Order: sequence, then structure tokens, then C-alpha cells
Amino acid sequence: MSAPLPQTTSDTPIHALVVGAGFAGLYMLHRLRQSGLSAAVVERAPDVGGTWFWNRYPGARCDVESLQYSYSWDEDLQQDWTWTERFATQPEILRYINHVAERFDLRRDITFDTAVTSATYDEAARQWCLTTDAGPELHCRYLITAVGCLSSANLPAIAGIDSYEGTTYRTSLWPHEGVDLTGQRVGLIGTGSSSIQASPELASQAAELVVFQRTPNFSVPARNQPLTEEKIRYWKENYSDLRREARETTRSGAIYDLPVKSAIGTDPAEIRTELEARWEKGGANFAYAYNDLIVTQEANDIAAEFVRDKIRETVKDPATAEALCPKDYPIFAKRICVDSDYYETFNRDNVRLVDLRKMPIDRITPTGLKTSDAAFDFDVLIYATGFDAITGTLTRMNITGAGGRKLAEKWAEGPKAYLGLMTAGFPNLFMITGPGSPSVLSNMIVSIEQHVDFIHDLLVDLREKGQSSVDADPQAEEDWAAHVTEVAHTTLYPRAASWYMGANIPGKPRVFMPYIGVDRYRAKCDAIARAGYSGFHTAP
Ligand code: FAD
Ligand code: NAP
Repeated sequence: MSAPLPQTTSDTPIHALVVGAGFAGLYMLHRLRQSGLSAAVVERAPDVGGTWFWNRYPGARCDVESLQYSYSWDEDLQQDWTWTERFATQPEILRYINHVAERFDLRRDITFDTAVTSATYDEAARQWCLTTDAGPELHCRYLITAVGCLSSANLPAIAGIDSYEGTTYRTSLWPHEGVDLTGQRVGLIGTGSSSIQASPELASQAAELVVFQRTPNFSVPARNQPLTEEKIRYWKENYSDLRREARETTRSGAIYDLPVKSAIGTDPAEIRTELEARWEKGGANFAYAYNDLIVTQEANDIAAEFVRDKIRETVKDPATAEALCPKDYPIFAKRICVDSDYYETFNRDNVRLVDLRKMPIDRITPTGLKTSDAAFDFDVLIYATGFDAITGTLTRMNITGAGGRKLAEKWAEGPKAYLGLMTAGFPNLFMITGPGSPSVLSNMIVSIEQHVDFIHDLLVDLREKGQSSVDADPQAEEDWAAHVTEVAHTTLYPRAASWYMGANIPGKPRVFMPYIGVDRYRAKCDAIARAGYSGFHTAP
């Protein structure tokens, strides 16, 4: 069911218009409704789900445990819903999102198959005017983007890309009816999390899988398994405390076995035992073995070498193993990948790794791909080449703020946004998981819930005070951006050419975009709210 577009005019704007119907947009709609603020959602997909609607490639799962990668805002919901696996599959997560949409009757205010193509601020009326690809203009007092950090795919400009005559897929736009790769020769470009999850599944179906790797990634085993009744019961009985712990006391928004000491100064044999135990337990818990792993290069090297040793132990062909070992950036400086039999996949007879650092792609050909050394023919070519992350979807929305200033121009040298929620000069525009918020460095649902609650509370505050516009103070924004950078540079994160830095998109400014520390961020936001929303300017 898709709602008709809300009927709005500049004289009768809707209070809040939310763009996007993933985890963020759905919760934002629910929250606004709870306070009686008129709201509607516009979504370009034909249904809810966002990331989990689009990314249906085989093997897609969450990398945060299902019991934690779920909404915490409704006690009955978390008691009634039962996850089946430690790391839920994409279909199960999508079923959950659909369940939420139905349970809270959200679809009646969501218009699907409609993309927002531009948004322009009307300074005199203090409201936004939006165009969509569905026709009529929309007018709203507040515009809230819930467009996702990983929702604009990056299709690299490889020579000859349009000449390919076989079938092309992208992991981020996988056909909903599924794909039968039986007997097919498959080429896979990219070795990020998507590829690492997909490769074992693709290899088990295809006649031949050739993985083209430019940069190897660090990956830890998921050790996925069905959830036991005991574990589910424990979480359900303790949800409120556990959720609070994740929100208020962790850097990542997820509960792990947190470190109690530094690797530096600890006996190497003890470190090995600890890392081994975490490797066996599985998941991103491995990253939290010691408190200096993402801070001190020497400590980081220990964990990195441990993983490289695991790769060498697992992959039988020494040259392939060596090519799979990342060596030129710190482990954990890119989001750690969590896999099921990724490295083992390279022991299969039908799988081959091509190291693009040794033989770069020359061009895509009508029948496959040519590197500097060899030509490959495929029936199917798959791009797992990532996203124009964090800012890409926002800058593509053609947003124009006060004084005719374009968002894409304002952010040309790098994005700045106060708390990652508002960018000065774009009044009444809120961004959920915008640049400068913890977003992608966290269990994203925890961050999304916090951002939504903050925006909601601010909108209620404005209503109570009879204010109709709000903007970020330019100096507060500058200070926040400096703080985001300063915190990042106390860690090893900026040493990797990652998408956190915009490094995967040619020409994108190299700025570390997310904020490190869910706990610290929440405390700062709470203090700002208590201080009457310091750093925000309001007007009647
Ligand atoms: P999205 O889910 O991206 O939703 C944004 C929506 O906005 C989309 O439906 C899009 O169609 C819509 N939209 C965008 N622009 C427009 C427009 N102009 N007009 C109309 N609609 C528009 N995070 C984790 O914390 N843990 C994980 O395990 C995890 N796994 C992931 C796996 C994959 C394959 C990917 C790609 C990401 C993963 N993430 C994970 C990050 C994930 O994106 C977030 O966890 C979360 O789902 C984001 O929700 P969202 O609502 O903010 O954005
Ligand atoms: P990604 O990590 O950005 O990986 C993209 C891959 O494509 C990289 O290996 C990149 O190589 C390669 N690539 C890009 N352009 C190329 C070119 N021209 N030639 C050859 N190779 C090229 O993207 P992703 O795998 O989709 O993951 C993005 C993020 O989504 C993750 O970090 C994670 O946050 C989230 N995610 C999570 C999960 C999960 O486990 N739950 C699964 C998927 C995604 P270079 O590194 O050399 O640029």
C-alpha cells in the first residue's frame, strides 16, 4: 500500500516531511505522530526497508548481532519479535522492518516510488518546497532527511563499462526475484563487506568465480549460528538494561566484551590467547580485545598480524593468501568485515583471486574484462564497488538553502554539520545520520534512534515556544567540525584511505566524516538540549 502524496500548498504546508523509509524514516514518522505533529514520508523504493530493501545479494546479513541490531523504542515489539540467528539474514531483517511498518500502521503516511529531486528553502515563508519525480510540489515546515549513509551506489568509471554484453548485477541493487548462477562464469569486482559476504555463496552456485581485488580487507569469522532459547530469554528479560548499556556506555552502540587493558605492556602469549578466544567466539567482538588497538600503531600491528596469520593458515595457495593479507593500513580503520567462510572460499577449485595491484583492470570488454596481463570471459559481471557514503545521497538531492546556497557547494571542501544534524544556512533541515554524527561508526540503529529522538524533542520544543524556524549557529558548526576531526586524529582511523574519509570516490574531499563515540556523542547532545539547545538559533 502506498499513500497518495500529501496535499500541501505554501499556505498549508505539512509540518514535517521525511525522505526515506528505512530504519531512520520509519522511526521518525512514528515519533512525530506520537506528538501529534503532521508528518509524511516519501520513498523512492516501492516499499519500506532502505538498505535491506535494496541489498539482497546472497549472503547479506547484519554484522551487529540481531538482538542488538533492532529497534529498542517499543517494549512490546522487542518482546514479541524473535530473531532466529545470531546475525540475521537480509530477508529476516526485511521481514522485521515490514512487521514494524504493519504493527504501527506506518504505510498510510508513506508514498512509495517517489524520489525527491530537489528541495529549496523559502526564506520568507520559512518552509521547504520540494519537487519529486511524481509531479506535484510538496511544502513542509521541516524537512528531515532519512536517506541513509550507504544508499548511493558507486559504479566506478572503468573504461568500456557499457560495452559488456553479458548480464551485470550490483550487490546494492540485487534483483528481488533472486538470480540463478548455476553453471555460470562469474566475475566479481570489489572486496569490501558486500563482496566478502557474497563470495562464498556465489562460489557455491557458479561454475567459476573470479574475484577482482584492488585492496584486501580484514575480515573476522562471524561464527553465525541459530540463537538459543536461553540467549533469547536472557536478552528479553534484560532488554531495558542492555539497551541502556549499549546507548550510554559504549563507543559503538553495541555491547561487546569490552577491553580492560592495553595490548602494549601485556605479555605476547596472553595477547595471543585473548585474540584466539575472540576469533573463536566470532564477530566484531575481536576488535575490542585491548583498549589501544585503534589508538596505537604498535598495538594495532599485533592484531593485524594475528589476522594475517589466520589468512595464511586458512588459504592453501601461498600467493593467494599473501594477496589477501592487508598490509598498508591499520586493522579496524575500516569497518571490520564479518564473514562466513570467506578465506576458505579461495581454496575451492572454481574460485580465483586476481590481484589488481599486480595487474590493474585495463577495460571491460563485450565478453568480460581485460587486465594488464590477461583477458577474462564471463556470463555475469557483479559490481560490489561500494557507495558514495554519508554525503553522496544528500548532495545529489539538489538542496538549496537560504540565499540560494547549494548544499553540494557548501560541502565542496568537505561536509560540516552541527552534531551531524543541521548544517548552517539550511534552516529547518535536519539530517538523520548526517556527517559529524556517529552513524556508520556504530550499531546504526542505536545512532538512528538517538538522532530521531533529538530531532523530535527539538521540534516539540519549538512548537511549545511558538518558534517556526531553527538553524545551526555557524560558529557552533565550525567548533563541532573541528572536534570531529580532533577526535578522529587521536585514533588510527585517518590512516586508511577509507570511505569514512571519502577516499573511495575520485575528487571527493578527504575529510573524516563520522564522529567517534556513541556514548560521548549522546552525552554532548543531552547537555546541549538541557542548555536550551545551545548552538541552534530559533525564530518565531
Ligand atoms: P537506508 O536504509 O539507506 O534508507 C534510506 C532510504 O532513503 C532508502 O530506502 C532510499 O531509497 C531512500 N532515499 C534516498 N534518497 C531518496 C530521495 N531523494 N527520495 C526518496 N527516497 C530516497 N549497519 C549496522 O549498524 N549494522 C549492520 O550490520 C549493517 N549492515 C549493512 C549491510 C549492508 C549491505 C549495507 C549497505 C549497510 C549496512 N549497514 C549496517 C548500514 C545500514 O545502512 C544502516 O544500518 C541502516 O539500515 C540505515 O538506515 P537508514 O534508514 O538510515 O538508511
Ligand atoms: P566497500 O567497502 O566500499 O567496498 C568496495 C570495493 O570495491 C572495494 O574493495 C574497492 O576497492 C572496490 N572498488 C571500487 N572501485 C573499484 C574499481 N574501479 N576497480 C576495482 N575495485 C574497485 O563497499 P561495500 O562492500 O558495499 O561495503 C560498504 C559498507 O557497507 C561497509 O563498510 C559496511 O559498513 C556496510 N556493509 C555491511 C555489511 C555487513 O557485514 N553487515 C555488508 C555489506 C556492507 P578499494 O578498497 O581499492 O577502493
